[in-house]
Amino acid sequence: MGGQQDPAAELDPEQRAAVLAPRGPVCVLAGAGTGKTRTITRRIAYLVAQGHVAPGQVLAVTFTKRAAAEMRNRLLALDAVGVQALTFHAAALRQLRYFWPRVIGDDQWRLLDSKLPVVAQAARRAGTGTDRETLRDLASEIEWSKASLISPEEYPAAVARVHRATPAPAEQVVAVYANYERLKNEASVLDFDDLLLHTAAVMEEHGDVAEEFRDRYRSFVVDEYQDVTPLQQRVLNAWLGERDDLTVVGDANQTIYSFAGASARPLLDFPRRFPGAVVVRLERDYRSTPEIVSLANRVIEVARDRPAGTRLRLIGQRPPGPAPVFLEHDDEPAEAAEVARRIRDLLAAGTPASEIAILFRVNAQSETYEQALGDQGVPYQVRGGERFFARTEVRQAVAALRTEGALREERPLPDRVRAVLARLGLVAQPPEGGAARERWESLRALAELAEETVRLAPGTDLARFVVELDLRAEARHPPTMEGVTLASLHAAKGLEWDAVFLVGVAEGTLPIQHADGDDAAIEEERRLFYVGVTRARQHLTLSWALARMAGGRRYRRRSRFLSGLAHQDHPAAALGRTTGRSAPDFRSEVARCRVCSAALTAIMAIKLGRCERCPADLDEDLLRRLRTWRSERARKLGVPGFVVLTDATLTAI
Ligand code: ATP
Ligand code: MG
Repeated sequence: MGGQQDPAAELDPEQRAAVLAPRGPVCVLAGAGTGKTRTITRRIAYLVAQGHVAPGQVLAVTFTKRAAAEMRNRLLALDAVGVQALTFHAAALRQLRYFWPRVIGDDQWRLLDSKLPVVAQAARRAGTGTDRETLRDLASEIEWSKASLISPEEYPAAVARVHRATPAPAEQVVAVYANYERLKNEASVLDFDDLLLHTAAVMEEHGDVAEEFRDRYRSFVVDEYQDVTPLQQRVLNAWLGERDDLTVVGDANQTIYSFAGASARPLLDFPRRFPGAVVVRLERDYRSTPEIVSLANRVIEVARDRPAGTRLRLIGQRPPGPAPVFLEHDDEPAEAAEVARRIRDLLAAGTPASEIAILFRVNAQSETYEQALGDQGVPYQVRGGERFFARTEVRQAVAALRTEGALREERPLPDRVRAVLARLGLVAQPPEGGAARERWESLRALAELAEETVRLAPGTDLARFVVELDLRAEARHPPTMEGVTLASLHAAKGLEWDAVFLVGVAEGTLPIQHADGDDAAIEEERRLFYVGVTRARQHLTLSWALARMAGGRRYRRRSRFLSGLAHQDHPAAALGRTTGRSAPDFRSEVARCRVCSAALTAIMAIKLGRCERCPADLDEDLLRRLRTWRSERARKLGVPGFVVLTDATLTAI
């Protein structure tokens, strides 16, 4: 293998230990940005390069489509071509498609597009309330039950055991859940959880299938293992059988799917389950500036119920960068406009659009930002990526490719695909703005997917590419698009950007309204916030608005998670303006904390006795001098206490 990068280069000693460990159980427990994903992709590339395993024998799984795409890209850069890196669902879907005809027979099945209509029908049959909110709650409850391996019959005892608040009386949930399963069976449709359930069942019940599978895949890798559900764990166990060639990496502080049944337990228990496992802990953060790392540390150190072994502090490795910015706005449109303006400035200063993300708690927030970006002429990744394959131009393109693919031409795949797409409007120059631009972007995404596909699997022909498109459509796995990323916090985990705008950091949004009063839910929201702030490499902006609509009543408060992060005693600082009211000549050079290089203000230093950010203790002597200096200065100049300490000032005292 002529690797573009040496898989064992540029690793710290702990990362190297995990990369070079012999085949067998390996577990990396570490915080955000410490190189977990880097370590597993390097490990795969290393094992492949050394000939310990063939690329096609490795199955790497993760939880979100974006994270799986990220893994594929990193593997590609390491020349580990042919390794499968998929979401759990996509892996199960492929497996099921392959084995289904042999095991179940010719029964055709469809994947359920949306649970809600079936849940609605199930609820009507059960005589339960059918308003939209109840239905959504019931759908989530069914999802949680299935992910937790709880059948309708087991449901009442299970929820009683864990003291779970149920969306309706337990016996009603049971009735809806049972009806839902029945309706799906009658219509031969499977939901996403069924893909996993059937995969596990097929492996457990058909020895020959299990054997064939285990002969094909011999080495398993799971990223983001802190978010595994009992159902996914069951699939993983079925894949493994008696073997132990499993590498897992995760961070218990980033568990953000426990509402859906996920738990960090299997990650934390891994060393007990595999006593011979190589266990590695990482604490050096290679992703973010020390300013962002110190903020992240403060976000998570106040989290409650952190299990032993997860209380690591991240140590920033990168050179200092700009301080995180806190922005408060009157209303959401104003917030979005300001974010869009700042993004335009970053683009003008040379940051590529693909290195910028706007992250939000709920998808409903996206629209305001799409509007604002559109107004500023900023390209963004089309939202609702899930619906990519439902777009008219994409459906037309897939149909045209299918016709064209009827199976003999020598030209390379990307050329053939481009020729077909050109007929549908993929011209060289993108049209200006609006729907035409969006259409053009979708077609370009398909063209680029063809290129990526042949890079990953050389020799793919058009017919095979169309099958790949069908699989992606079924798994709702859109190709990557150009532009600023708009993503929910859940979809952003594992990813990183130079500049991150974490928006809507207000009570009721982050934490979300319904978490209020529920300690466990609030802690999960806090972890989500932690995931958000740790996505940024260089620029982190946290913003919120006091009213939703322009001119609306300003009744919102900034998020509780910001306390201790923004200078809450001083509104000007919270707004990201200078904290200084000192003479202008003092503003340019700001004295910084020795440990995290945060700017020190006299008032906060004196009040806290420590740095506001990291929080290193300030020595008594410095504090005493500060106090004297401040009262002197205030007396002489009538300047209030909020003074930025500059190097010049410190030299003077
Ligand atoms: P998360 O918990 O968010 O998934 P992670 O632990 O998986 O984070 P990675 O994404 O693997 O972290 O790494 C974070 C960044 O640091 C990446 O850009 C990666 O290339 C870089 N990095 C990791 N290890 C090193 C290293 N030893 N030297 C230089 N850069 C590194
Ligand atoms: Mg990662």
